[in-house]
Amino acid sequence: MARGNRLFLIYITAGGLRLARELKESLFPEAELARFKKGLAGSIWDEAGAIAFIGATGIAVRAIAPFIKSKTEDPAIIAIDEKGENIISLLSGHAGGANALSKKIAAFTKGNPVISTATDLHSLYAIDLFAAENELLMENPEILPKVSAGHIEKGRLTVYSDLNNPGLPEDYERATIPSGADAVISNRLYNSDALFLRPGNLVLGMGLNSGTGLDEIESAVKDFLINGGFSPLSLNLIATHEKKLCEEGLKAFALRHGIRLAGFTSEELNSVSGVKKSDAAMRALGAQAVAEPAAILASGRKDLLIRKKKTGNLTLALAQKNSNRLFVIGTGPGGLSHMTPHAMAAIRESAVVIGYKSYLDQIAPLLDGKEIISSAMTQEVDRAKMAVSLALEGKKVSVISGGDPGIYGMAGLIFDVVESMGADVDVDVIPGISALNACASKLGAPLMHDFAAISLSDRLTPWEQIEERLSAAARADFVIVLYNPKSKGRAKQIERAREIISAHRAPNTLVGIVRGAMRDGEEVTITTLASMLSQNIDMHSTVIIGNSNTRRLGRHMVTPRGYERKYEL
Ligand code: SAH
Repeated sequence: MARGNRLFLIYITAGGLRLARELKESLFPEAELARFKKGLAGSIWDEAGAIAFIGATGIAVRAIAPFIKSKTEDPAIIAIDEKGENIISLLSGHAGGANALSKKIAAFTKGNPVISTATDLHSLYAIDLFAAENELLMENPEILPKVSAGHIEKGRLTVYSDLNNPGLPEDYERATIPSGADAVISNRLYNSDALFLRPGNLVLGMGLNSGTGLDEIESAVKDFLINGGFSPLSLNLIATHEKKLCEEGLKAFALRHGIRLAGFTSEELNSVSGVKKSDAAMRALGAQAVAEPAAILASGRKDLLIRKKKTGNLTLALAQKNSNRLFVIGTGPGGLSHMTPHAMAAIRESAVVIGYKSYLDQIAPLLDGKEIISSAMTQEVDRAKMAVSLALEGKKVSVISGGDPGIYGMAGLIFDVVESMGADVDVDVIPGISALNACASKLGAPLMHDFAAISLSDRLTPWEQIEERLSAAARADFVIVLYNPKSKGRAKQIERAREIISAHRAPNTLVGIVRGAMRDGEEVTITTLASMLSQNIDMHSTVIIGNSNTRRLGRHMVTPRGYERKYEL
């Protein structure tokens, strides 16, 4: 089971609570505080990435004892005395991160980190920690103790890697060939008694006859990869024709191995040039071929590692995913407490953080020691190009975007720039709370029924199209969320929008206006379509126009879902 990544600070006394609050405020905004009680450790065990007990070591040890499984499965456990003088790394020292966490807390409390694992004592970067941090899977973990012992004895580790990302830590020596290296980072099979770390970067293109069973897929894929010289552990994605996504055997195979599936239409598959054509695919699906073009499309690359091979009911081809990574991260509407722990963790891991200055200011506590690139709002294209170029150098880059990056944010632009540069960059989008969630929550529950989000900015969208969408959404009685309602140079659009909506909705329709949600100086107003323009609306505001049923309940604005018609409430 995948381990959660929540950080819990468990306190026992008032002094412990004080320290827990200080740690949350200054170091770990995402931390969750809880008072110690019986049964607590068990209830949070699977969810926790780390648990810090502030209190006696004995209490911590007794509380966790029944749940301990192994160093690859257990959360990081540390015990801290309530004055923060000793910070003891108890469990999951390096792979789980307890040692690093202890050091970080000790640096803050000016206390003493108590660490007993050998590689950390010698201030070496343990290879299992390096693997965990870089999402590399260990193929032969049984030799880890031997490799770690050698690392400590020699004070260095020789590593062969055929990837430029991740870069290697300073105390590792780069080997030029795999044989003789202590560890090998590659998706390829080599004859070596090294510790093999596998990146999840292989994309398998697959054509298959209907009804092909799990067993046939299992053995054909394994043989194909191994005979081709690649590790099955590196297989991350299977790409096929969209009509094949419902094949039971394929679905079961993907589920069993945690492999993602991607399906393409015949039209998309036919857009790829230079692939071997297949008469069978043309007859059955109208596609020139499946395995090769699907692998090329899903990998984001132009060439294949292995051209197609037919075995039994399957046709297989192999490609490698883009190797450099870029995160586009949603920072939410305001302060750190409205950002997801996942987004915070991704920023912590990044070497470079790029974003608009005011968004960077909001997350300042996470940016210590990082290369920061900020720019003005209108330079987002330059920011995107810069981010892709830095990712191409093999750096871990995060582009931050307010709210959700995929809602009028940076995500779409980044994908466009990666495509137009033909860049070897794999993009990961990490969601955030958008203005529509944040503002709706401040108003009550105005989005309980169907709604449309429309931006009134005509910088990138022709105004006529915005007018058409406003009119269509108003006519269909959607609740309407207006982003970018007004700025200094754009005052008329909100007036025109109100006019268009008024053609289909009564003057007393409720309108919620939220300015600077979840930020200092937040303003929340509930008014009507008739009076909305006399309110303060600017580029920090979101306007939510209710549908014909939206009503006021005390200080709230609520759009009924219809429960009241169906049930007695
Ligand atoms: N990606 C962002 C939206 C960017 S467009 C998101 O998902 O929220 C910028 C517009 O978002 C602003 O003009 C405003 O309409 C809205 N917005 C962003 N943050 C807001 C906040 N904290 N309160 C109210 N509206 C906000």
